[in-house]
Amino acid sequence: MELTATLSKIRKELFYGSSNYTKNQPDLFVPHHFRMLAPSQVDSFVETLKESIKEEEILLYFHLPFCFSECLFCNSFPLKADKQVQQNYLHHLLKEVELFSKHGIFDGKKAKCIYFGGGTPTSFLNSDIKLIIDKIRSSIDLSENCNITSEAHPLTLSSENRIEELANIGLNRISIGCQTFDQDVLIHCNRSNTEHQIQKIVKTAQESGLAINIDMMTGLPGQTIMSVRKDLEILKEIRPNAVEYIRHEIVNPLVVELYRTRPDLIVEDDILFEMVFITQEWMENLGYEQNGRFSNDKQWGYRYHWLKEMPIIAFGSRTRSYTKTICYDKHEDLSTYTRMISKGILPIGRYIPLSKRERMYRSLILGLQLRSGLDIKRFHDTYSEDPFVVFAPLLAKLNEYGCLKQDADSISLIKYGAYFVEDVCDFVTDEALKEESGDLVRAPHSGGNRYSGLMQNV
Ligand code: SF4
Repeated sequence: MELTATLSKIRKELFYGSSNYTKNQPDLFVPHHFRMLAPSQVDSFVETLKESIKEEEILLYFHLPFCFSECLFCNSFPLKADKQVQQNYLHHLLKEVELFSKHGIFDGKKAKCIYFGGGTPTSFLNSDIKLIIDKIRSSIDLSENCNITSEAHPLTLSSENRIEELANIGLNRISIGCQTFDQDVLIHCNRSNTEHQIQKIVKTAQESGLAINIDMMTGLPGQTIMSVRKDLEILKEIRPNAVEYIRHEIVNPLVVELYRTRPDLIVEDDILFEMVFITQEWMENLGYEQNGRFSNDKQWGYRYHWLKEMPIIAFGSRTRSYTKTICYDKHEDLSTYTRMISKGILPIGRYIPLSKRERMYRSLILGLQLRSGLDIKRFHDTYSEDPFVVFAPLLAKLNEYGCLKQDADSISLIKYGAYFVEDVCDFVTDEALKEESGDLVRAPHSGGNRYSGLMQNV
């Protein structure tokens, strides 16, 4: 692959390849600032939380962390699907919504978008998902055209009428994991989905009035440039409403084990760089929006408003929520999560009060993922600071690498900067951490171990 001067710089200075790369979720995360919350402190924390949500519209996230599959690329480490355990979880999840409601968090608020993530949310029955949607509807007003999305495993959508029923209970968008159509690669990943199957799901979803996104990956075990190009040809035929291409974040011990015995399956960084470039170029040419290039909320309502700094209230164990000034986590351990809810206490285990400096960095990271970029006037109105001064050294470096364009109104990514937006965001996070202490390191959002640590004996 011939590299332009800008791409060479991005490759050399910013591209993390597979190592030291954090799948962008896409937010600032400063784990060393977490403060633990004792159950007795939760109620007073919730009052502070309420105060911090000034906006009328909020985003709701529901975590359904169960799955029957064991994909080698998985970075969400779900719990094993089990009917009884899932029903118990669902019972407590609904109670959690009631507790939030009782605390008045939803008073005067509207849900702009609702997102079911996992795991595989569709490992729950449609009737279970309906119970959650009904509970939401009875607890908070929904904004007009509220976007309700669920992630789904293709295999869970094959039963008759499943997709139509999901539309009937109120979903208007589904996001399915596909990752690749290359059968050899899928076998290495312990996955099976065929072109025909995905084609059928997309057709049924669209006929049922559901928008559909397909998640794809680069850097999977044994994946080649030719295989990526073939995937793109197939996608062009299938034509989902949205496509998301992400890089394989090597955090799953199963894939590390595979690489120990089959190092030939590891995708080298130069090849990975080309894969990212090819897929992003394809997306740009076909008008698919992605991080770094979002211009409206049409296909990516939840993500778009997240980047616009709308508060996120997440439900379920192991979830992270953000308001403009606070980031907080629910308990990860399922028994602690359910026990606290049974006692009528919100299962919040720790929180970070974001400093002004962190909030400014967060605004920058989120803003750079929008096509319009960081809004200078809004930044100034919020912080009474000039971002060109606050971030001068950082912006100078990104300019030198050829990633940015800036004028009096905004700071945004140029096309190639947007292609490698995850690397840009990782770079900004690293700079924010370095500013505090040279010892701090970025933590992966997945909660898995770092690739470099896992891979050291390969
Ligand atoms: S990637 Fe998705 S389908 Fe695969 S194990 Fe993880 S949650 Fe389950």
